[in-house]
Amino acid sequence: MQTLTNRSKVVSNKKMTFMEKIYLPAVIKGMYITIKHFFRKKATINYPEQTRDFSKVYRGQHVLKRDEKGRERCTACGLCAVACPAEAITMIAAERKPGEENLYREEKYATVYEINMLRCIFCGDCEEACPKEAIFLTDRIVASEYEREPFIYGKDILVEPVDPDKRIDISARQTDKVLEFKKNKRLSHNK
Ligand code: SF4
Ligand code: SF4
Repeated sequence: MQTLTNRSKVVSNKKMTFMEKIYLPAVIKGMYITIKHFFRKKATINYPEQTRDFSKVYRGQHVLKRDEKGRERCTACGLCAVACPAEAITMIAAERKPGEENLYREEKYATVYEINMLRCIFCGDCEEACPKEAIFLTDRIVASEYEREPFIYGKDILVEPVDPDKRIDISARQTDKVLEFKKNKRLSHNK
């Protein structure tokens, strides 16, 4: 039968030699390998005290952005939910009432918006599908939990704070290519 790799070895039942029986050469060989690795650069780090540098476009915890006036950008169109391959996004839409223009940018908004972080595979499709520049992935790590329930992230976690100093910076995701793409006039609604 043809082997898939060349790593397989034929095992034989030949008798052990004296040197093999005393295991000393094997022990010395093992110690040599251990000592050799002991002085090598460690592949691991002491997380969380130490963290690695992330890629500028690392895809971590989502943020629902506000516009420059502090209004929620999401219009609850559902395109992110449709695009999501993991079916991680759910929402309930509502009509904006008179007097709420300072809260929601569009006439429709998400009264409930949830992402199941246990389902999410951080592919970024929701970000790409959004016509309102409302949802972005960020370099923030999703916190670990002991229960499943806290992994359902609602608007209380996803929507960024109104305070301009506490907004979530997503400028690293606006690479030159993305900015060039957005110059397309057909995307002029996407501001
Ligand atoms: S990053 Fe991908 S899997 Fe996660 S919510 Fe967005 S579309 Fe769904
Ligand atoms: S985040 Fe974007 S794509 Fe998703 S519902 Fe809101 S506006 Fe639509």
